Amino acid sequence: MPTLSIDGFFRVEIVTSSPAATSESPPAPPPAGERPAAPGLSLDDWTAWMKERGESAYRAKQVVEWIFKKRAAAFAEMSSLGADLRAALDAAFRLRPVSLVKAEGAADATRKFLFRLEKDGRLVETVLIPATPGLDGDRSDRLTLCVSSQVGCAYDCKFCASGLAGFARNLDAGEIVGQLLEAERVSGGRVDNVVFMGMGEPLANFANVTRAIGILNAHWGVGIGARHITVSTSGLAPQIEKLAAIEVPVRLAVSLHGATDPVRDRIMPVNRQYPLDRLFAALRVWSERRKQKITFEYILIDGVNDGLDEAEHLARRGRALGAKVNLIPYNTVEGLEWKRPPVRRQQAFFQVLQRHRVPCTLRREKGHDIAAACGQLRLREETAAGIIPPGRA
Ligand code: SF4
Repeated sequence: MPTLSIDGFFRVEIVTSSPAATSESPPAPPPAGERPAAPGLSLDDWTAWMKERGESAYRAKQVVEWIFKKRAAAFAEMSSLGADLRAALDAAFRLRPVSLVKAEGAADATRKFLFRLEKDGRLVETVLIPATPGLDGDRSDRLTLCVSSQVGCAYDCKFCASGLAGFARNLDAGEIVGQLLEAERVSGGRVDNVVFMGMGEPLANFANVTRAIGILNAHWGVGIGARHITVSTSGLAPQIEKLAAIEVPVRLAVSLHGATDPVRDRIMPVNRQYPLDRLFAALRVWSERRKQKITFEYILIDGVNDGLDEAEHLARRGRALGAKVNLIPYNTVEGLEWKRPPVRRQQAFFQVLQRHRVPCTLRREKGHDIAAACGQLRLREETAAGIIPPGRA
């Protein structure tokens, strides 16, 4: 049985395993963890796999249509394919690499999903956010999905629940795209905006994230426009430059949360590796190549980064780059000491940016009542299940 080994977007290497068993009963399929996730494969990958089996390229088109357009929940549903081919697909691939464990809804219709990864049983969070005025500064009826790119996170930002239990592993592209397919299946909605702002640092999982972006964007895939896909990074400068060169012109958001090195060093250890001057050199590369506005995400934390002098620095940096700023009052995280600033201080910070004519929104909170700050729900569930030892988080 040939299997696929993925290496970079749209490249596939066919690895043929040991000859098929000759006994009369079919061999048991390999464990889930060893089978590639079907939503992470490109049309070229499917074409190569079909060719290896002596099937026509048309079969590959049928498979992607069943996965992304008709949203088949099982290979057995792919009725335009022969029974042997369906059985072979089922033995070789995982069609649903994520499945729902729990859904929580907030009063503002934000929904958070806890998904189990079929490969190894780990948990990730995905958040579905209906757009309303104040989320991104525009009035629209977009349905946004915030996806995770890793289990846990190695970057240890001091205000974030995702990094509390450390890093476990990267998600593969199928597990990233699978979050969208499953969220749509559960909610009945159609996502038209994807943000990589969930658990994990997407640019630390560059190959899988860019492969997933290609599938989310492709006309044969999910079909979401590049301008409606946003990658958010804590500031991995070299990878920002690399992302500026990929084919799909996605948008970029930077989790800035501090406009001077001492403030950023205190809450974001990544700043010691890539201080603000290095980060902004990469952002200038991005601006020159992409000619798009960059968004700065800035979580306002009481007494840490909400001073008016920090607002002045932020305004200067924002203006120099023509960036837009989203101010987000901090969402409390269990086990962390930080608090959100009083409303009058949030507004004073906002007014400094306005005075400097930096496009800015002060975000109305979304999903505060369902622990929308990423990582909290998964942390509670994995700790209760003993996957994360108590005291580690
Ligand atoms: S804010 Fe992002 S990069 Fe920082 S620890 Fe959390 S998930 Fe990781």
